[in-house]
Amino acid sequence: MQSPQLLLSNTSSFFFGGIKAAFQNARKYGFDGLEIIPYRWTSPGEILSLEKRYGIKVAGIHLPPWWNKNLWQAVREPSSLFEKTLAPVWHLFLGSARNSAGLAIARVLAERKPYVLMHSNVTVEAANEFSALTKAFDIVVENITYYPQYAPPLWDPGLARQKYQANGVRCGLVFDPGHFSRAVAKLPGTNPVETYKQARPEIIHISYNSATVHGLPNSEEQKELQAMLKIHQPRYIVLETNPFVSIKKGKEMLDGLLKSI
Ligand SMILES: [Zn+2]
Repeated sequence: MQSPQLLLSNTSSFFFGGIKAAFQNARKYGFDGLEIIPYRWTSPGEILSLEKRYGIKVAGIHLPPWWNKNLWQAVREPSSLFEKTLAPVWHLFLGSARNSAGLAIARVLAERKPYVLMHSNVTVEAANEFSALTKAFDIVVENITYYPQYAPPLWDPGLARQKYQANGVRCGLVFDPGHFSRAVAKLPGTNPVETYKQARPEIIHISYNSATVHGLPNSEEQKELQAMLKIHQPRYIVLETNPFVSIKKGKEMLDGLLKSI
């Protein structure tokens, strides 16, 4: 079994230094590549020149968390007060997925087949357009935070795997244990390791909410992560932390974790 590649997300420098800083940090701390969530104003040319300059490649592109919603519709989605407060910022910085820089970049990098990440609810919003996307790109779908209004496959990646298999949809899965933790807290008997086992995801996001928002796993969560990796190793593990989390600490934690399995 090939060891997972470690990617850095530009969430780690979102407000300070942006995508350029993500390239610099990926090289400095020895990541294998990047997952980028492009800003509205990021261009494919900028990405190509940063790749060349830093010798780091974009492995995946995270689309904005809305297909075509306006800000008002975005704020009204089920979410925490914190997320509602930040929705205007994301909307301003990222725009919506349908006309995003992310899709333009994915087209330019098409030969290399970077993965294109969509939140599960965005695939529902994209409706008929989603199947065209799965034909054009290597789509991976990420579980969103549990709210009772959402159909279970949207927050449970094990059920998402079953659904896509049954419907013959060609896409991979991203497991975000931080998003899943709300289901664990609200629904007794929900077990992240069991769900992970059923999902067998291509990608894991490291973005935990136990100590802070988009932080590193605490010691109990690290043990769960270790148990998951012993069952199945994804192709990529992505450090998707906020700009106040130490990238060095995150990278060392992941290196240690991979060595221990
Ligand atoms: Zn995530």
